[in-house]
Amino acid sequence: MKRSGPLTPPKAPASGAAARPRPAFPARLDTSAPTPVNRPGAAPAATTRRVAAPVAVTSGIGMDSLAVRQSMVRKLQAQDISHPAVLAAMLAVERHRFVDTALAPQAYEDTSLPIGLGQTISKPSVVARMLELLCHGKSEKLGRVLDIGTGCGYQAAVLSHLAREVYSIERLKGLHEKARDNLRAFRLANVHLLFGDGMLGYPQGAPYAGIVAAAGGNDVPQAWIEQLAVGGRLVAPAVTGAGQQHLVVMEKTSQGVTRSVLEPVLFVPLKSGIA
Ligand code: SAH
Repeated sequence: MKRSGPLTPPKAPASGAAARPRPAFPARLDTSAPTPVNRPGAAPAATTRRVAAPVAVTSGIGMDSLAVRQSMVRKLQAQDISHPAVLAAMLAVERHRFVDTALAPQAYEDTSLPIGLGQTISKPSVVARMLELLCHGKSEKLGRVLDIGTGCGYQAAVLSHLAREVYSIERLKGLHEKARDNLRAFRLANVHLLFGDGMLGYPQGAPYAGIVAAAGGNDVPQAWIEQLAVGGRLVAPAVTGAGQQHLVVMEKTSQGVTRSVLEPVLFVPLKSGIA
């Protein structure tokens, strides 16, 4: 059976990210040897496309009110999200525009919602948590960021407020196109949607100040680590020692790469290839 995600166990308080008290960051640092940066010489695996053309947006259901998002942001603050730029970005982006009209009334609840092709839009607290980890300790905008698993494009839209350039990659053509349609109205000139296998990263945009993944594999692909800038940070779900998925934060320094394992989470699997 196909899993959709990020997944939430029935009646659990939240997808792993909020299921138990969060470890502080950095929680555990395993410093490994410096990672060699090999630039793959292969032809680009992804095609890129800019989001620019304006289109009329229908709202209709009153879910675009600032008050609803303010309430969502207050709940995020109650869940220990405190980075001002992340909170401002969560306040700015109208999440209801990324889900089907029938689901729009639930758009500002802390829940994941289906976006088609068996995938789901991450719940707001998980998006905010990951982006806060990505921006940790930085008050200025990030440079170039790679977003793996565009899905409906919501997280890419939030990232567009936090980074100068966002490269967002999706392996399912149907969702890549859906994200393009969803994002068109926002006229986000700094968001570049890519159709391709995100496991290979996107070398053309590297090095990245940040890499964030919404799908988890058995490990963090080496290509992502290679494409991370020195001083850059990577946030991704990955299966760790005990066979369970955790949020993993990696930082590249001139001395090497540090790896911190944070709370358990449950995201959709990271799959190779396109479909
Ligand atoms: N950030 C998204 C979440 C989508 S769910 C949002 O805001 O909607 C995770 C997505 O990762 C799914 O759309 C899935 O198709 C995609 N995915 C899984 N493996 C991938 C890969 N190797 N490359 C690119 N996308 C991938």
